[in-house]
Amino acid sequence: MCLICERIEMIKRGENPYFVKELETGYVVIGDNQHFCGYTLFLYKQHGNKTELFHLEPDERDRFLEEMTIVAQAVSRTFGAEKMNYELLGMGDAHLHWHLFPRVSGDIENYGNNGRGPVWWYPMYKMYSDDNRPSEEQLANMKQKLLDELEKLL
Ligand SMILES: [Zn+2]
Repeated sequence: MCLICERIEMIKRGENPYFVKELETGYVVIGDNQHFCGYTLFLYKQHGNKTELFHLEPDERDRFLEEMTIVAQAVSRTFGAEKMNYELLGMGDAHLHWHLFPRVSGDIENYGNNGRGPVWWYPMYKMYSDDNRPSEEQLANMKQKLLDELEKLL
């Protein structure tokens, strides 16, 4: 089973502490590491052989993109993004999932082009440092704020 499917199974069992909300096409979860404060993922519900946007039926794809956009807006409002960054990757886990990063000036320090550039110009060991993991209390607070914004938009 892929890592995303494992996390979804945890949500279904009520055991995923990062879970925020179920939408029609996917699940909203807070990222494990929070160097980029408010980093959120939107996990597509199905895996199977649907690993590209162009594998989805047009209506399903429209709904998935619409819901991702709503999640991005809620993340932006909740965490005060200057700009949202969106990534749909999947060479590691082919399961469709959006990475939604709220960006603010200075968030990659002086890496990249004098502090400007994509999130992946920030060193991986810093981005995934255990220092960036939210406490139970911080996580609960982030989830509640994001849920409140999402519910205003849905
Ligand atoms: Zn999967």
